[in-house]
Amino acid sequence: MSTVPSAVLDALPDPIILVDAGRIVVAVNRAARDAFGPNLIGRDLSFGLRHPAILTTVDRALAGTEDATAEVSLPVPVPRTFLLRALRLNSRGGDAASVALVLSETTDTLRAEQMRADFVANASHELRSPLASVLGFIETIRGHAADDATARARFLDIMHREATRMARLIDDLLSLSRVEVNEHVAPRDPVDLRRVLGNVVETLGPRAEARGMELRLSVADSLPTVVGDADQLVQVFRNLVENAIRYAREKTPVTIEASAIDRIPDLGGPGVGVSVEDRGEGIQPEHLPRLTERFYRVDKARSQAMGGTGLGLAIVKHIVSRHRGRLQIDSQPGKGSRFTVFLPARR
Ligand code: ADP
Repeated sequence: MSTVPSAVLDALPDPIILVDAGRIVVAVNRAARDAFGPNLIGRDLSFGLRHPAILTTVDRALAGTEDATAEVSLPVPVPRTFLLRALRLNSRGGDAASVALVLSETTDTLRAEQMRADFVANASHELRSPLASVLGFIETIRGHAADDATARARFLDIMHREATRMARLIDDLLSLSRVEVNEHVAPRDPVDLRRVLGNVVETLGPRAEARGMELRLSVADSLPTVVGDADQLVQVFRNLVENAIRYAREKTPVTIEASAIDRIPDLGGPGVGVSVEDRGEGIQPEHLPRLTERFYRVDKARSQAMGGTGLGLAIVKHIVSRHRGRLQIDSQPGKGSRFTVFLPARR
């Protein structure tokens, strides 16, 4: 038996398995029992862990003079990835354990890396198409449009539009990364939501008017104070109202309503609910769970034509989560959509 007290092994979060020189399991900790079943002790390691990479790694450590490592993915019951370390033990006296197998789970790390890689690929792809278009028009202006003033003016307009799109995309990417950096630091200042919403309505009024739309703001008299980052909350409601202006029908109203809430759905506790409601064509229910994913758009061409980047709701989600609040999306296809942000009241 191993001289390591089993309480110490059990307290360690990673699965640990000790084997003797003949690869028979002599001790396991609780995490290993949870992961690989209760009947490992007294049998060859291959009885419980059949993965060839695990066995060859352990054999390498048993046969050689050095520790061995490998990365293994185990498919059942859910796919999990581990960094496997087979550590040679300096057995003294009657201690039978020759090698300690330590499995550190890397599933989350891998998933985060995969997400980061996907995100960089998506962002590059989104930037590449306007850039390719600008480069193409530069060539055209240098070439056969060099002496055609009308064509040149038209191409410059398009180049301006495409460059503006790239600038917007970069602004949104930077906003997103700034929000992510401090997402775990809850904001601390009291915020006057009436001012925040007034500011948003004032800034976006002209955009709404250009589409014949009216922004109707209604703020309840006795709103509880919320704690927040006023600039970030302006960004949240600006993104939501901008979307309503983009995706709702022309000449329809957009209603922005703030009221006190006794119990925030799912979170509990009192707070404020601010809803932004439009009378657009709404969103089919299958899209709702994915709307806050980066670059997810129901209709990409439409979003781009209206100046969208596909990042607006991702930014909203991260800011709301930093505020320990909740975003709720309700939509009736054909009738309209309502985006509600719940923020907890200051204690
Ligand atoms: P975008 O820059 O494309 O607007 P968002 O992240 O803000 O990106 O929104 C993602 C998608 O959600 C949009 O492309 C659109 O398809 C849909 N959407 C957002 N708001 C509304 C709305 N008020 N009405 C209908 N669809 C909406």
